[in-house]
Order: sequence, then structure tokens, then C-alpha cells
Amino acid sequence: MEKLNILGTGNAMTLDCYNTCFTLENNDGEHILVDTGGGLQIIKQLRDAKIDFRRIHNIILSHKHTDHILGMFWIIRYAQKFFDSDNYDGNLIVYMHKELESTIRKIMFEVLPQKFTKFIDNRIIFKIVEDKEEVKILNYNIKFLDVHAKKDRQFGFKTTLENGKKFVFLGDETFDEQLRDEVINTDWLLHEAMCMDSEADIFKPYEKMHSTVKTASEIATSLNIKNLVLYHASDNNLKDRKKLYTEEARKYFNGNIFVPDDLDVIDL
Ligand SMILES: [Zn+2]
Repeated sequence: MEKLNILGTGNAMTLDCYNTCFTLENNDGEHILVDTGGGLQIIKQLRDAKIDFRRIHNIILSHKHTDHILGMFWIIRYAQKFFDSDNYDGNLIVYMHKELESTIRKIMFEVLPQKFTKFIDNRIIFKIVEDKEEVKILNYNIKFLDVHAKKDRQFGFKTTLENGKKFVFLGDETFDEQLRDEVINTDWLLHEAMCMDSEADIFKPYEKMHSTVKTASEIATSLNIKNLVLYHASDNNLKDRKKLYTEEARKYFNGNIFVPDDLDVIDL
């Protein structure tokens, strides 16, 4: 069965859960890693999720914020030992938009020693993708989508799963109406929710182009979504977050609601 392996569920500043990133695992146990979180903990999350790095050959990066790309440094460092010991088949391909590629290339070469950067353009291939471009990754036709982020340029994607269901990832900003035709009637929507409606005065999600659970749920209802995954959340009530967010979402959305914790696995 295809799975969504949730590696992190937090927004940029969470301390008690890792930043939002996940893998889409196909029926053969191969993974597409989507975003990398903000640090070395990406390697710990992969270890704790029992995901073999050798089953990851494709990474999608959404945008240049620290909580999404800094894990990439550690993946390149981690990959080095697999490459050097001839313990990894093929190449690792990293998909991202043009500006992000230029940023990643600059900072990687600025910061990492040559023993790591020597693999870039050799075993680690940066692949620039365009808005609405469709790329075959594993068995998936991934259609990259500019999500019309108000801060920095950001790509999400949509695809059809091996089981025929439609799956959409929208990065970490509130859904933009320009994407309605791409997202409507989707089986799986991954959408950020920074906090509950009652906490909006504390977290001020709208100033950061983020949503509350309520707004994300209303959006999912308006788009006729079947399964809504809410993440990129705060960690202030982590122990009860799943219950509290689910209760709030239920008031505004009738489909299936998933409020994962780090390392949760969702059957797709
Ligand atoms: Zn973020």
C-alpha cells in the first residue's frame, strides 16, 4: 500500500516536533522525500521512521525557507558515505524551481567541503522544474504547481497515486484561489494549519500567510476534498494537538481529517 510517512509536522519555529517534511512511499517501497526540515534531525527522522536512505532517489524542495531546505545540507553529507562506499544505486535527483536551485547551489558550495560538493552534478542532480511542468518520478506523473505564495516563490505538486487517487501538496502557505481548478475534488490534500482559531490572536497566522485549522478546513470543504492532512502546525499543545485540531476541523469539514504527529504513517 502507498504510504505518507510524516517525518515532521511543525512550522518553522517548533522545538518539540521537527519541521514539516514527509515521504510519499510507493507500492515498491521507494520514497519521494518532500522537503527536508531545518537541520540534522532529518537524518534522525529517517532513521526513526526506518526509511532506508538507499530507497530515496528523488527529493522535491518547495521553497527556500530555512525550515524546508537546511536538512538538505545533512542529506548531502549523509549521502557521501553511501556514494564513497559504493552502497547506493544510481543518482539522487533534487527537483526545485529555478530561483531555488540557484540559492541551493550557492549555499551548498559556499558552506560544504569539496568532499561533499564533488557529488553535486555527479551523483546528486539538481533538476529545475517549471510551473505546470509534468515530470515522471517513480510511477508518478508529478505536475509541479506554483502555489502563488505571497512571500517567496514556492512550488507544490499534484499527482495521481498508483491506487488512482488524486494527491495534492501545497507547500506551507494558505491555498490560493488561482489553483482551484487544479485542486478541486482531490482525494488527498496536504494543507498547513498553524494554530486553532482561538489562538489566532497569539500566533497571527494570517500575517505569515498561514491558516488556522478553521480556515484550512473551510477551504477543504469548498474544494470538495475527501482526506485532509493538517500540518506545519505549532507545538504549544503537542500532546493534545491531534485531538484539539481534529475537533475544530470537524466543525467545518465533513471528510476524513488527519492531524499527524511526527513519524505517523498514513495509509493512502
Ligand atoms: Zn515552512
